[in-house]
Amino acid sequence: MNGEKIKVISEAFRDEVVELRHQFHKHPETAWKEVETTRKIESLLREWGFEHIRRGVRGTSCGVVADLNPGREGPSIALRADMDALAIKEENSVPYVSECEGVMHACGHDSHMAILLGAARVLSLIKDDLPGRVRLIFQPAEEGGSTSENYPGAECMIREGVLEGIDAIAGLHIWSPLETGLVAVRPGAFMSACDSWTVRIYGKGGHGAMPQDAIDPTLAATTFVNLLQTIVSREVDPKEIAILSVGKIITGSAFNIIPDSVEVTGTTRTFNPAIQDNMPVMIKRIADGVCAALRCRAELEYTRFVPPTINDEELTKQFIETAKGIIGEERVQISPLIMVSEDFSYFQEKIPGVFFFLGCGNPAKGTDNPHHSPRFNVDDDALSTGVELLAGFAAEFLAGKR
Ligand SMILES: [Zn+2]
Ligand SMILES: [Zn+2]
Repeated sequence: MNGEKIKVISEAFRDEVVELRHQFHKHPETAWKEVETTRKIESLLREWGFEHIRRGVRGTSCGVVADLNPGREGPSIALRADMDALAIKEENSVPYVSECEGVMHACGHDSHMAILLGAARVLSLIKDDLPGRVRLIFQPAEEGGSTSENYPGAECMIREGVLEGIDAIAGLHIWSPLETGLVAVRPGAFMSACDSWTVRIYGKGGHGAMPQDAIDPTLAATTFVNLLQTIVSREVDPKEIAILSVGKIITGSAFNIIPDSVEVTGTTRTFNPAIQDNMPVMIKRIADGVCAALRCRAELEYTRFVPPTINDEELTKQFIETAKGIIGEERVQISPLIMVSEDFSYFQEKIPGVFFFLGCGNPAKGTDNPHHSPRFNVDDDALSTGVELLAGFAAEFLAGKR
């Protein structure tokens, strides 16, 4: 019954949702700076009759939470969208190109907000038919991991009580490697954990022409980088998945100076918590061993950043059934494991959650460029499918869990 209504209303708001995305795209804001974005969302939610609207997380004006049917008996579900853009200069030439120099919605979070607003609008119009409560979570700073300030928005919101009284949570990521309108999801482990680390290697600076008077930390650092890959190739069980990548090496100041120290920074990814636990031990042992051989000293700073995204088996089964009903069996796929990470996993550590990919790739429209590229763009035809999936799943979950 609700399904038909949701379809019709979602269709009716198709253009409005596209326009919302274009507005967000024009005015991108990076992590913990989503002030205007928050203001816009908040005013729409007020207009549409949402209650208990809470604005701001971590003492900022970024992020907004709102409830539908807050006093109603029955189950409750939260729907989440992330809000932040990236420090990337856009290279698209679309009418809604970013008006903010050097900042761009290059991951599609503009579409996540537009889709969730669309779903909010739909659910607000059928709220009397819903046998439970819906909470909307517009979360700042999903991409926080790429900055030096490690404040994942999801973790901050949870600390401030965003999941209190909530039974389950659902969220999506628009996904350019997947064809427009297709859905990919995976019960259980879905997206990998993401940690970051820095190894500082200390030697003794000196003249490049007199290495005998110096202790060269660059040589130790390059040896360390080479040996680092033996962790994956020789130590971790080949049947497991693990990645170690070096992303940054800072060393030296001039061609003829041996520097005092070198900084090597990288990331690790895995689905296995035991491997994640052991990573700092293995990295430190190799750094110490190399440094002992080459008269240097190593320090490791290891940050456990994002846990693996683990979809609740039951909830995901329920989502797959709903999605098949909405877009057709042949358009719902079981995703392979994905090596990028998502801070939605913090929510899933606390309550059952399902996170899925919504395809937006269409080579004819140039929307198949990779996420985080300056030419990333979203096929707007995917948006109304997203609206219908989020609103439809929320309605089904509330109806089915009495
Ligand atoms: Zn991203
Ligand atoms: Zn993203």
